[in-house]
Amino acid sequence: MEFVSTRGLSKPVGFIDAVAQGLAPDGGLYLPRDFPDLSDRLEHWQALDYPGLCYEFFKLFAVDMEDAVLKHCVDSAYSTFTHPEIAPIRSLSKNLKVMELFHGPTLAFKDFALQLLGNFYEAQISRTGKELTILGATSGDTGAAAISGLIGKKGLKVFILYPEGKVSPLQERQMTCTGAENVFPLAIEGTFDDAQHTVKEIFSDLNFRELVGLSAVNSINLARILAQSVYYLYAWLRLDPVERKETSFVVPTGNFGNVFAGWLLTKMGVDFPEFRVATNQNDVLHRLFSTGEYSLGSVCPSLAPSMDIQVASNFERLLYFILDKDAHEVRKVMEAFRREGKYCFEKFLGDGFSSSSASDTEIPALIKSVSAQSDYLVDPHTACAFKDLDPARPSMILATAHPAKFPSVYEQAGMAIPKHSSLQELLARTPRRFRLSVDSKSIRSFIEEQTLHENG
Ligand SMILES: *Cc1c(COP(=O)(O)O)cnc(C)c1O
Repeated sequence: MEFVSTRGLSKPVGFIDAVAQGLAPDGGLYLPRDFPDLSDRLEHWQALDYPGLCYEFFKLFAVDMEDAVLKHCVDSAYSTFTHPEIAPIRSLSKNLKVMELFHGPTLAFKDFALQLLGNFYEAQISRTGKELTILGATSGDTGAAAISGLIGKKGLKVFILYPEGKVSPLQERQMTCTGAENVFPLAIEGTFDDAQHTVKEIFSDLNFRELVGLSAVNSINLARILAQSVYYLYAWLRLDPVERKETSFVVPTGNFGNVFAGWLLTKMGVDFPEFRVATNQNDVLHRLFSTGEYSLGSVCPSLAPSMDIQVASNFERLLYFILDKDAHEVRKVMEAFRREGKYCFEKFLGDGFSSSSASDTEIPALIKSVSAQSDYLVDPHTACAFKDLDPARPSMILATAHPAKFPSVYEQAGMAIPKHSSLQELLARTPRRFRLSVDSKSIRSFIEEQTLHENG
């Protein structure tokens, strides 16, 4: 199994290298060169529990990992979840199901990928003896989940950039109150897109990458995508044959990572009739799917901050398929997009996708109406998924975070404030963070100081 870059100028690599590198050296994103056909396996897989399914799925891609190591990585990743089913599905009404993806240690779906990725890194370090430096940008949940997956791992240092004042106070505490020595939360002035841009710039410095053994945890890492594909498969296997043909998977979306992970299964012989891309007021993807124009807007902070994104990195992976896997064309489109800040698709791959966008006035209203109709409390990201739902169509909503992570939204809406014990504990701890300016030079030298000169 080989992994190729969407931009076609990097050598194909195996799974271990694709994971360790994150971003391909040519600036592209890794994808499997060929896709396994799952259709013959699905019946057998129906009986598997979550870790069992995850292991069988990854075995098809991680062929260069020892089975026992892979199994250990998977089992220990999901042992940190507090619900026995890992991704339980609740039925709110005849046509409405919710898959709860917030039972991991940081109460957001990103734990699914990052608990596993942390174990992959650990396995890699113990195999090669080479230390790794993890760098990422976060709009809140990624940083918390990445840090939780990487705390205390030997030979690993984690640097997470986040826009100061633009992540929720509890999310910030999840990053800064871990007490872990190998974790460096970097508070920067600017937006998430500024932070992500700086991270990309640092990754494009190949000498620096080599020097500190840099790897990415953003949703550009292929292991994250594949880890997320597993819960779509798990949910699909729990539907009956008629539901499988009709159910639309509705996904709160920012960077396009989560929904892309589901869509990728359609390349492996699993039929999903529709994915619905639910955005907040930062609607670059809603505009794309409704008009065919992919254009940069400015980020407008919203009540669903983990989706405050106007450049959806993983879109490049979809683009690769839209352009019939022609890496040369991908480079041309990405270059045009960088120059012009927009790109218009004449023939757009609308098939299989629909979209919606919920404003900041709609989010509290949606939370209240779901609560009134179904006696179920959703977080502000998940609330976006309830916008413009067709009640006649079966929907599987992906609930991406626990409401207790965003108390101020409920407070402002005059609702009871949801709580969760793991968050209450954080309030007693002292935060540790580092304020840096967002230019790549000062961030590079900070990383260098912490990784190379720590004993000098
Ligand atoms: C990250 C996040 C999203 C968006 O996921 P993408 O992979 O960026 O599309 C949605 N909801 C929550 C709670 C998140 O943390």
